[in-house]
Amino acid sequence: MLRIRRIYDDVLPINKEILSQVKEILRSRFTAVSEEEIESIGEKLRNPFKQRFRTILYVAEKLGGRVLGFALLLHEPEIGFTYLDWIAMATGRSGGGIGGALYEKVRQESAILKVKGLFFECLPDEENFCPDPGLLKENRARLRFYEQYGARPLVNTSYEMSVNPGDTCMPHLVYDGLGQDAPLKRSFARKVVQAILERKYSGLCPPDYVKKVISSFVDDPVQIRKFRYIKPEVAHAEVESRAYEQVALVVNDRHDIHHVHERGYVESPVRIRSILNKLEKSGLFAHMKPQQFPDQHIQQVHAPDFVNYLKRACRDVPEGKSLFPYVFPIRNKTRPPKEPSVLSGYYCIDTFTPINQNAYPAARRGVDCALTATREVLNGRRIAYALVRPPGHHAERRSFGGFCYFNNNAIAAQYLSGYGKVAILDIDYHHGNGQQDIFYRRSDVLTVSIHGHPRFAYPYFSGFEEEKGDGEGEGFNLNIPLPEKVNGEKYRKALERAITRIEQFNPTFLVVALGLDPAKDDPTGTWSLQAKDFEKNGQLIGALGLPIVVIQEGGYRTRTLGLNAMNFFNGLIKAAQEWASRKQRPKNKIHGLTFRQDISYEDIERVRKLVEITGFFTGAEIDVAVELVQERLEKGDSSGYYFVMAEHYGRLIGYTCYGPIPCTESSYDIYWIAVHPDYQGRGVGRQILKETEHKIKTGGGLRAYVDTSQRVQYASTRAFYERCGYLMESLLPDFYAQGDGKVIYSKQLVRK
Ligand SMILES: [Zn+2]
Repeated sequence: MLRIRRIYDDVLPINKEILSQVKEILRSRFTAVSEEEIESIGEKLRNPFKQRFRTILYVAEKLGGRVLGFALLLHEPEIGFTYLDWIAMATGRSGGGIGGALYEKVRQESAILKVKGLFFECLPDEENFCPDPGLLKENRARLRFYEQYGARPLVNTSYEMSVNPGDTCMPHLVYDGLGQDAPLKRSFARKVVQAILERKYSGLCPPDYVKKVISSFVDDPVQIRKFRYIKPEVAHAEVESRAYEQVALVVNDRHDIHHVHERGYVESPVRIRSILNKLEKSGLFAHMKPQQFPDQHIQQVHAPDFVNYLKRACRDVPEGKSLFPYVFPIRNKTRPPKEPSVLSGYYCIDTFTPINQNAYPAARRGVDCALTATREVLNGRRIAYALVRPPGHHAERRSFGGFCYFNNNAIAAQYLSGYGKVAILDIDYHHGNGQQDIFYRRSDVLTVSIHGHPRFAYPYFSGFEEEKGDGEGEGFNLNIPLPEKVNGEKYRKALERAITRIEQFNPTFLVVALGLDPAKDDPTGTWSLQAKDFEKNGQLIGALGLPIVVIQEGGYRTRTLGLNAMNFFNGLIKAAQEWASRKQRPKNKIHGLTFRQDISYEDIERVRKLVEITGFFTGAEIDVAVELVQERLEKGDSSGYYFVMAEHYGRLIGYTCYGPIPCTESSYDIYWIAVHPDYQGRGVGRQILKETEHKIKTGGGLRAYVDTSQRVQYASTRAFYERCGYLMESLLPDFYAQGDGKVIYSKQLVRK
């Protein structure tokens, strides 16, 4: 089976392995690509904006992880285009539909990002530009392939002009309008070309070459080559399956067999129908059939004896009967009780979660739904929703209860954790004790829950603020218990706190345990959230810009369930779309940024975390960053190290370390500058640097020096210094390593 999957980073072993295969394909298929560029792919994935392009990698892989092909797409949100950097198949596997599938994925992605066009280069298919007959044949096949989508080279420009005399076979720039039928405006095309030549080919194209190419774009609109291989009417320019933008919706098709008729059993089948009725009308969701997944996914989060018990006990209860526990033996692993009704209490936490013939199959199908939604997100979908019951978040590693049997959100998170860090955000009215218990000792899955305080709300025994995780997991569980009366505004304060913690954690994926019981008049809750509040909550969560698996938990006021769910998704989808197409540097300045110079012992860890989270420094470099803080603490001014710490509402989001250069009269070195990834591209670096220069001047400094590497990865760093008024003073070739020189910048500080 072939699947196309998005790769989010190069940190986890599974992704490392995939990436090494991608690099191997690049090496074997494109011999002209430098090793440095090949090696920089991982870095680009981790630091999407380092080269002022956001990098998106899709791989086509066979079961077992063999990569058959990949596509590397660059997104330029400010100008609004995507650039297909590479699309390549493993050797000997050209075609076979894989290239087509990958290209369609790239078009879908571009459509979601709402760009004005997709661009890429293609070697020429004209004999006079490409003398090699074999290559010519290949190039023709390629351009014919793209013509099917309406994508053709730009003409009547000098894009193909050689950089060095004697260069042959210069590529065309191909434009895919993604079926939008809009003319290609000259001003837009010029910006696109400038960005490609300056960033993608930085160091290869001299400035006057770039200028010449740009000024050769005279036609407005820019002309696209006539169809050469197929009839225009045969081309299929619309983006396949715009449905891809929709939320994948997986509904438990076997939920209604689980129907407990006891009085007051609010967890009933009508809940799903009320939600579904609203969602289906919106057109924002695409139904997906639940797929079957092996038990192994469940056993990774639940104890095997517990899983077996549920399966067996549900099977053994007479049809139509329900077994409710009423005795709760203290758990004794060596001697579980024999009597079925007592045994149920051995695994259960309360008296209202029955064992019966339908509970197991319904819950088991719910797990399949959660995993189907999760896999969809792993494949690159932004948002997937498992609309399931019975719910899951009260099910712990070895116990069930609170209407829950298997912990769907923990099973989803466990699956995702193989591909990146995961945060679970539980916004049900009741504490998410299940996933807290399951991940309590782990630091790769952050569990956050906002809920009614256990002193008055179910499950009563957990959800206290002091439960913070244990061992390696210490600090990776956050409980935000709230009082009995909470309105939308008060709730959002708590949600903002939860989101700040998630941002700090910087996960690859987010699982939302969606409870709708914070709603006004919910029979199990005491809060008063209205439909509009759910929309705002959705917005706050969507603005995180993470791939999200939403899993249905509680919510029992059937009259408003659908409306509240719809409002939540409206907010979530809108904010997620805004995030996807948001400008690299939003106009809005960061408010509330404060600076300080004094250092405390807490800063040692804070600086370490900050420098680590940027993902830009090696272990040794991180150690150096921390040592500078320690030295400052020990020796004060005589250490020669001074700091400017930038904080946003008490959180360290960036800093510089600088100091006077010994044996100079008034020259200062800026040793270190780091900005938290969430705040990059928002003018924070510039503000910190400005503050630092101000402090240097106050200390009597007249010149500031800063140095960086010559390598491609540092192009944006160099551009940053230049924008801040720094001039390149010198280049020390091969300083750091062969081919990796040191660039020294300086700025004359004017005393006022
Ligand atoms: Zn609940």
